[in-house]
Amino acid sequence: MRNIDPFQPEHIRRLVLEFGSPLLIVDCARVRSQYRKLRRALPGVDLHYALKPLPHAAVVRTVVEQGGWLDLATTGEVQLVQSLGVDARRCIHTHPIKRDRDIRNALQAGVRTFVADNPDEVRKFRQYGERARLLLRVSFRSPGAVCDLSRKFGCDPEDAVALARLAAAVGVDVQGFSFHVGSQAADALKHVEAIEACTRLLSRARRERLGRLDTLDIGGGFPIDYLQRAADIRQFCAPIRAALAKLPKRVRVIAEPGRFIAGPAAIGVATVMGRAQREGHWWYYLDDGLYGSYSGQIYDHAHYPVESLRRGEPLLPSVLAGPTCDSIDVIAENLMLPQLKQGDLIVGRSMGAYTWASASEFNFFPRATVVAVNRTPGDTGSVE
Ligand SMILES: *Cc1c(COP(=O)(O)O)cnc(C)c1O
Repeated sequence: MRNIDPFQPEHIRRLVLEFGSPLLIVDCARVRSQYRKLRRALPGVDLHYALKPLPHAAVVRTVVEQGGWLDLATTGEVQLVQSLGVDARRCIHTHPIKRDRDIRNALQAGVRTFVADNPDEVRKFRQYGERARLLLRVSFRSPGAVCDLSRKFGCDPEDAVALARLAAAVGVDVQGFSFHVGSQAADALKHVEAIEACTRLLSRARRERLGRLDTLDIGGGFPIDYLQRAADIRQFCAPIRAALAKLPKRVRVIAEPGRFIAGPAAIGVATVMGRAQREGHWWYYLDDGLYGSYSGQIYDHAHYPVESLRRGEPLLPSVLAGPTCDSIDVIAENLMLPQLKQGDLIVGRSMGAYTWASASEFNFFPRATVVAVNRTPGDTGSVE
């Protein structure tokens, strides 16, 4: 059977009839194609899907079925993959700051590779000796990225070898170095700078025999299209491929893509609950908004392409608002839409990453139901 395209209007309407609104429709066929696109753009790099942007069973299973790996950061994420029966050897734990019980939970689940970026955190692993290995996270500031992840985490490159010495001194194996230059990167210059710096760190630490030092983790940050288009991923990764080609052959390279896998693989569907004309403009009130799936407009600074499934003329400047009683809860103003009615559907594209994951239930408006489609060819959708 062929894959259906759940992002087509007739399937969107059918899924809303069956599962209600608001919905987040996850297309596993698109998860697969995003995974494969990044594999082709980064040949030889093992992709660990970072669960954070869309921690959902269907996405995790799809990535693992493709031969992919996983990047976990919390005990909740460890429990999710455990409940799915995923082999823990396919998982790394990358939160640089952990409570001891988070470490123990992950070790008990079978995870072996962890991340640390400071002396206190390295010392937490002293008692686990041979059971755990460390990737040391290095910080390369990236003020150009939409979300600069190198401000909050990562050690100064100058301090990285000293941190490796400390790990060796307390009996913890240093597997290598990692970094995350920031999400939705504008170009790959920061990745390249970080790969080159980590290549030097690997050889310095190796000369001192501070651990196995056979892994470089290049993090995430791979960009996708929103209202603003991103570079084609093969082109984006070309300088990264060139920089990785200079690494010694024994170094295994891994990456932690989140947004790139999940973002384009889901759409948000909301329903018009009511409308009003205010100061000459139509305001439409949806059952999803900034406190729900559109939370990424605040936390992730994303601008989703939003459209109405109703076609027709004339197009009028309109306002789309969320359901809560807070005045900040406005999705878009000055959007050109035909005149909508109660029950009409509004679709947001590129809404898989950092949307539903950061939604709240403020004002008791429930989070969107997640429906996964195309787990296998012809799968018409189900909730998990
Ligand atoms: C959030 C995060 C990721 C995923 O980043 P994307 O930019 O979504 O690919 C990967 N690794 C770590 C450590 C993260 O915190």
